Amino acid sequence: MNRRKFIKNSLGLTLAGTIAPSLITRNSQLFAGDNKTYISYKPNPANWKDDEINIAWIGHATVLINFFGKIILTDPALFNSVGFYVLGTTIGKIRATMPALEFDEIPKPDLVLISHAHMDHMDYKSLKELTKKYPGKVNCITAYNTKDIIEDLNWKTLTELDWGESLKLDELKITGIEVNHDGFRLPGELDRAKGHMLYGRSYNGYILESNGKKILFAGDTAYTEKFKQHRDKNIDVVIMPIGGYIPHHHRHCDPEEALIMASEHIGAKYFVPIHANTFDGDEGFHVPIDWMNKSVEKYDIKIGISEIGQTLTFNAEE
Ligand SMILES: [Zn+2]
Ligand SMILES: [Zn+2]
Repeated sequence: MNRRKFIKNSLGLTLAGTIAPSLITRNSQLFAGDNKTYISYKPNPANWKDDEINIAWIGHATVLINFFGKIILTDPALFNSVGFYVLGTTIGKIRATMPALEFDEIPKPDLVLISHAHMDHMDYKSLKELTKKYPGKVNCITAYNTKDIIEDLNWKTLTELDWGESLKLDELKITGIEVNHDGFRLPGELDRAKGHMLYGRSYNGYILESNGKKILFAGDTAYTEKFKQHRDKNIDVVIMPIGGYIPHHHRHCDPEEALIMASEHIGAKYFVPIHANTFDGDEGFHVPIDWMNKSVEKYDIKIGISEIGQTLTFNAEE
């Protein structure tokens, strides 16, 4: 085991609750490509153990999770851009920060978890390359009325989970939950956000549960009180978007709202931000993370990680 130097949570948060301070793997600085942002951290999945939970922010809404040995990859966007997939390339938004792990450094996911069909969350090229590298070996869960986009790919299983529906993958239980977003991939498509409950594209958050530990992955969401229904579930970690609220505040919460939902509505112990520092949002590249770091002291929650590439680690006893 080539365990690298660990440092304590750089935010100096006090230890409270039942989870020990997070450990963050720090690597030498990694240059993220031409005209790209430097990232200082790199996950090291080879060191992860089957009796641990590891949550690593790869970039945007892509999170690599080791949940007691099950590898879960959320909303994989693993290449330089997201958008329309045409003749092997993706035409659309170019990322400013490259993923914290390159495609070939991502371990084989047992489960790819897709929140909704927006281009930055259901990236066809990433899913195509993953299923090419691991043909017939990866399970995929996505939102109601969205699997048609990716059902030509060679999945082990491809399942739509609707709000309130659950599925078990060995010890891991996955439940789809309602968030406040919309689901159309192309303009004009029917959308649950516009009341098309039967034929509209839907959008999910998920609760992952194993061995008494729970992670809530919110996917993409605006502020909503719907999260209050998960208050009594003893959620350990909330992974919540914090960027993109300008100009789309009706679809994306801001960092203050994300912290309110995670701490006051859900009552989680740890907060992990996503949907920031990857594609330029109109609110300004560093604004969401800075705002989150400044505001967190008002709330009864700890920031698990605050930068792309960092990893939150704990085990069943913590
Ligand atoms: Zn979205
Ligand atoms: Zn998004």
